[in-house]
Amino acid sequence: MQQAQYQLIIVGGGPAGLTAGLYAARGRLKTLLVEKGATGGQVLVTDWVDNYPGFADGISGFDLIDKMTAHADRFGLEKKFATIKSLNLIGDLKTITLDNGEILTAKTIILCTGAKPRKLEIPGESEFSGRGVSYCATCDGPFYRNQEIAVVGGGNTAIQDALHLTKFAARVTVIHRRSELRATKILQEKAFCNPKIDFLWNTQIKEIKGDKNGVEELLLVHHGGDESILKVTGIFVLIGIAANNAILPLEQLRIDAAGFVITDEEMATNIPGVYAAGDIRSKRSRQIINAAGEGAVAELSAEHFLGNQAPDQPLNCSE
Ligand code: NAP
Repeated sequence: MQQAQYQLIIVGGGPAGLTAGLYAARGRLKTLLVEKGATGGQVLVTDWVDNYPGFADGISGFDLIDKMTAHADRFGLEKKFATIKSLNLIGDLKTITLDNGEILTAKTIILCTGAKPRKLEIPGESEFSGRGVSYCATCDGPFYRNQEIAVVGGGNTAIQDALHLTKFAARVTVIHRRSELRATKILQEKAFCNPKIDFLWNTQIKEIKGDKNGVEELLLVHHGGDESILKVTGIFVLIGIAANNAILPLEQLRIDAAGFVITDEEMATNIPGVYAAGDIRSKRSRQIINAAGEGAVAELSAEHFLGNQAPDQPLNCSE
């Protein structure tokens, strides 16, 4: 049989992938982490993280990822920045084909491809994307200094980002389809107390309208069917996430109805030697701490699967 290049390949470099990488590097597995952009995933564009243990004063998403990356680097995690074209997870030798045609092989794989913002799928959304429609408050907030903007959604992301956007905008209107928020209570309290934030309850957006310069107004539908117009120059669509599964072989993996990968509590998928961790997993709570914890569990499962094989790496007496 063909020799595997790696004992473990981790696909994706967010908190789950970086933690799996840290554990694998410390476990002296011959490991590669493949990431298409910078490490960090969604956390990289998270303004502020206030619920990661050990950072009592909070920490920016950027700095948290910087620390996680440095931590894995300290133990020598090998990383490759490349776009994956396809994966074949069946058999003892898993193969990953990169966009440039290069083929990587490993005995075990941890899938940490994460998730991406969900879209409203309404008229005007794609037309004005990047011209008033945004999915990232940290990236685009400063463009809306002293302007009237809207946030759609009632979860943690929407409310945390609405608070962040008040640093720039004159007014932030949160549009939510129900009469109560899903966000954690401390965020709700902060938002209700913020004089720059208004709420439109039981309201959905029917259409985003504008001209060649960008968004001008939203056509809203209220509970009962009444319609109204809200004048804004920007709208942040923060209505949850969709699985980042485009590169995954969905015909091989067991997935849920929304396309997230199903695992057991050891992070094992239906395919021997293949694990999933972080937001790509089918689960209810998606927190950075969960992703990191699952990355650790997945790596320990991969180590267990590989068994007590002779270390592929030379003895290191420096640490
Ligand atoms: P989420 O918790 O799934 O909330 C999505 C929100 O968007 C819900 O309020 C939902 O309304 C609304 N929504 C969904 N589809 C919609 C549509 N088509 N039109 C209008 N509204 C729609 O998503 P999230 O806030 O992005 O958070 C994702 C995950 O990351 C969650 O697990 C969250 O806890 C986690 N997260 C945690 C933190 C933190 O701990 N600080 C920060 C950010 C994210 P309904 O309520 O009516 O369903």
